Amino acid sequence: MNEPGAPVVFKGFPAAEGIARGRVRTVDWHVPAVPRVAVPEGGRSRELERFRGALARARTELEGIKGETGSRLGPIEARIFDPQILMLDDPEVVLGTERYISDNRLTAARAFDWRMLELKDRWSRTSHPMVLDRLNDLEDLKVRVLRRLLDLPDPWEIGGDAEPGGIVAVAKDLTPSFVASLDASRVVGLATDEGTRTSHWAILARSLEIPAAAGLGDIAARAGDGQPIIVDGWSGRVVIEPDAREVDRFERRRATIRGWRRETPAIAREEAVTLDRKGVTLRANLDLPGEAARARALGARGVGLFRTEFLVVGRNTVPREEEQYLAYRSVAETFSSHPVLIRTFDLGGDKFPVFLRTPAEDNPFLGRRGVRVCPDEPELFLTQFRAMLRAAVHGDLRIMAPLVNTGAEIATVRELLGMAENQLRSEGVPFARAVEVGAMIETPAAALAAPGLAAHADFFSIGTNDLVQYTLAVDRTNTRLAHLYDPFHPAVLRQISMVARAGRAAGVEVSACGEMATRPLGVLLLLGLGVEVLSVAWRSLPGIKRIVRNCRLDEIRAAAEVSLEAPTGAEARRSFAASLRPTLNRVFPPGA
Ligand code: PEP
Ligand code: MG
Repeated sequence: MNEPGAPVVFKGFPAAEGIARGRVRTVDWHVPAVPRVAVPEGGRSRELERFRGALARARTELEGIKGETGSRLGPIEARIFDPQILMLDDPEVVLGTERYISDNRLTAARAFDWRMLELKDRWSRTSHPMVLDRLNDLEDLKVRVLRRLLDLPDPWEIGGDAEPGGIVAVAKDLTPSFVASLDASRVVGLATDEGTRTSHWAILARSLEIPAAAGLGDIAARAGDGQPIIVDGWSGRVVIEPDAREVDRFERRRATIRGWRRETPAIAREEAVTLDRKGVTLRANLDLPGEAARARALGARGVGLFRTEFLVVGRNTVPREEEQYLAYRSVAETFSSHPVLIRTFDLGGDKFPVFLRTPAEDNPFLGRRGVRVCPDEPELFLTQFRAMLRAAVHGDLRIMAPLVNTGAEIATVRELLGMAENQLRSEGVPFARAVEVGAMIETPAAALAAPGLAAHADFFSIGTNDLVQYTLAVDRTNTRLAHLYDPFHPAVLRQISMVARAGRAAGVEVSACGEMATRPLGVLLLLGLGVEVLSVAWRSLPGIKRIVRNCRLDEIRAAAEVSLEAPTGAEARRSFAASLRPTLNRVFPPGA
């Protein structure tokens, strides 16, 4: 544990926007070694009964969490808990455990623990090693049931007195059921050793508006209950035992953010125009369909990235067309007069659904990822395209493919879309025709080949998260390399500028949807490099609009021109920030 009184800074990933200050409450998922107790000859039926009773209780609890999530976030969001509920009926789990109780006279706890260990081992080997959410679900269920069988208190129930200022839950990793069960009036922030922005629990935390930082390394081991802590869910920075300077900085930021919050309804109604009267289009990034209405209320003019992976990650069955259709339709209808750019399943890298049974790859981020999965899984994508084409009847829905490198990949998407159209037509099901198909520009290959790709794509969306990763060969999920992950690197800036020019020349809209568009300096730089359609994390919309309304596009362009010629990322950032100091001071008054 960390020495009391000495500030310790952790740097991880921003997992859910917002800032929080409170006291640490460590959350321990560890279940102590299950005692080895022999069951007497006649005790088997009692153990079987106890096991079934624990499963029934787990089901009641999970159904309760699902119901609660359904009313807080929506029915589609609530389905995140289905995999765990289904596991309670899975013969591999139930019959496997019962057999151990009957045949080997193990206690219910020991039999279940043993069975779960076997399944974990098998799933880790036979499916993709990055089926993290699925393993996370398994662990969550294991802890839930074992705690019942061993009469242990629940880690997900944060009891005790409320800390003044609120509780920050600190854990090795979290689960969706933990986050969904939190009392948001008491738990003000989350900080974890593991996980990324794409972890299921992080998606829920964003939707529930609980600030969170993930991938912090060893914070769980170093934090002690009751220690003061600050979590910055925008930058991924966490400070334990903050000193007076850190606290002061935090409180000033909090006051500024509160001031902005008061202005939010007014800002949401205002236009996103610069001081020299140039219009900028601000759209929202969504991870879950229920976020659409909130994004619209914050002033989004459409959706620039609707990630659809929530429908597949952690699931062991292919999502049905009807479920997808309803999810896509609800977003399309929420933004009936604005574009909704919906992304095809972006699988691979750090996210693969269990049902694909994908073999392990040595370099998953360079492997079967994004649009590359399409030709191998026509049924999965045909179902998705059918749902998208049907939903497109209800709004301006446009389809975009991730990790595109070539025109041939866009042609594959169009081919599958054509097949989906033919099917729907022959079935007499209504669908939209001539739906636009765009390419995400996420690799140097795509950026450098943008003029040629423009002949195949109806629009471009620059995914800066991946573009930076692939340009610099820096794994975006590796916190130890975070200092090398530089969106201001000249190679990145030049590619963004090239893509913007290629799009303009071909009359193809270019937007940007990576995290860069959510950072103040990144927003200005993208605008300066010629990208005037930005899609940002929905909660950041009012802040980004504030920046847009306080800058002059001609000044930003001139500053970006200079940065483009800078020899290093550090120099590009320094010169850009220096020449835009007056703008930055207008948005963030010194001392704010
Ligand atoms: C990106 O790569 O910038 C992007 C928006 O996609 P994701 O973060 O989902 O990979
Ligand atoms: Mg990407």
